[in-house]
Amino acid sequence: MHSVERIGRYRLERRLGSGAFGTVWLAHDDELEAPVAVKVLADNWSHRLDVRERFLSEARMLRRANSDRIVQVYDIGELPDGRPYFVMEYADGGTLADLVADGPLPVSEALRLTALAARGAAALHAAGIVHRDIKPSNVLLCASPDGPAGASRVLLADLGLAKSLAQASGLTQAAGSAGYRPPEQAEPGEGIDARADVYSLGAVGYHLVTGTVPGEPGRVVRPDRLRPDVAPAVRRALMRALAPDRRRRWPGAEAFAQELERLVASGHRPRRRRTAAVLTAAVTAVAAAVGVTASLVNRHSPAADLRVADTTGRVVAEVPDGWGRQLRDSGWDPKALGLPAGHEPGLAVADRLTRWQDLEADVNGVFVGLSEHGDLTAAVTALTHPTCHYDGSRAYDGARWRGRVRTWSGCPGGGSMTEAALAPAQGSAQTRVYVQIRQSGGASATDRVLGSVRVGS
Ligand code: ATP
Ligand code: MG
Repeated sequence: MHSVERIGRYRLERRLGSGAFGTVWLAHDDELEAPVAVKVLADNWSHRLDVRERFLSEARMLRRANSDRIVQVYDIGELPDGRPYFVMEYADGGTLADLVADGPLPVSEALRLTALAARGAAALHAAGIVHRDIKPSNVLLCASPDGPAGASRVLLADLGLAKSLAQASGLTQAAGSAGYRPPEQAEPGEGIDARADVYSLGAVGYHLVTGTVPGEPGRVVRPDRLRPDVAPAVRRALMRALAPDRRRRWPGAEAFAQELERLVASGHRPRRRRTAAVLTAAVTAVAAAVGVTASLVNRHSPAADLRVADTTGRVVAEVPDGWGRQLRDSGWDPKALGLPAGHEPGLAVADRLTRWQDLEADVNGVFVGLSEHGDLTAAVTALTHPTCHYDGSRAYDGARWRGRVRTWSGCPGGGSMTEAALAPAQGSAQTRVYVQIRQSGGASATDRVLGSVRVGS
């Protein structure tokens, strides 16, 4: 990507950010003389036609919404190497994720911004579209030069566009947006309706108010436990949006927006005497710590590792919690190792999967590929990483697997790389597993991750 200076008629100026599915650039449209944002989708393996089709249909859907609360898509296309991109309106004020990175917002500001995002969702729903991926990084802010000071436009971005593309290309989100996702969205086959977005909007509001991503559906710590100056009516509004049972949520984004606007207008005073305010800071700190611990333990006690599986459910691995931001679960092609081409079960999970191939990036994650059609030890042993320092090879002898592990450290991004070819420790099954691990700094989690790999029949 570094060498690309232009995409179509758009001149790239700088990288605005990267997400699970691609990189967003600030670019200049030389013909219309206006800034634009260009999102280039990550490399998507072999399902390109499918991806492109979805891409087009989602872009058309966006056109249908045609609201000034939704990021406009101006153009779509494909790079010479086949990666699709889309050109959209540039939001110059950052995202809600940038805002909340500095800590919780004043309650009324948090409610006002959430209400504006909900209004955007309502516009989508009116056009028959469910967003499916509302989260702080997909809520963009534009400074409006004509408006009063501090006023900004709030725009919904992405519209599940990236997500459905990613599904088509086999890249699905693991823990990344977990706190914003309603339970029905995690269940394949459950119908999704506008109330899925109501849940996500509630999660965004909760995050802005408390500074904390809500825990799993049904286990969300009450916001007033994290921030005692949250009024009961505010707590009720947010918790109702976050109800695991969608029949108990606000019936739509519009109703939620109205309630939030009403709360902002009425001042939503907490029922507490002034003297209590002195304690607030200390109480908030303690409560927040408890909240975080609780949500970690909920995920996977006691080690706080995250368990991931591929789409077939056969390949399972556990990784340190922070690695589990992005998951690609659709399998792999042993051709990558110089073996006969095919499609076998496998997964990759990492904090920045889009940079998996890039040893200059700091990435933590693991790739696990199953092979039932031949030994891959020789192919794995032939791998080398000349830009890193080779630390040598050792035997691995675990409860489930044995094999050879080779490690490189001091890669250009500062991290380490581990390559392992494993065979079952017992029995004579033909199953072989190729594991690749990338870690910031040394290879300290290697044995823990290798030990967690399981292959079901
Ligand atoms: P995910 O991939 O999980 O959706 P994300 O939303 O952070 O995560 P992207 O949608 O790829 O990832 O966006 C990356 C970043 O680029 C965003 O966080 C935002 O800061 C910036 N960005 C995206 N779209 C625009 C836009 N239209 N205008 C300005 N900045 C944008
Ligand atoms: Mg996004």
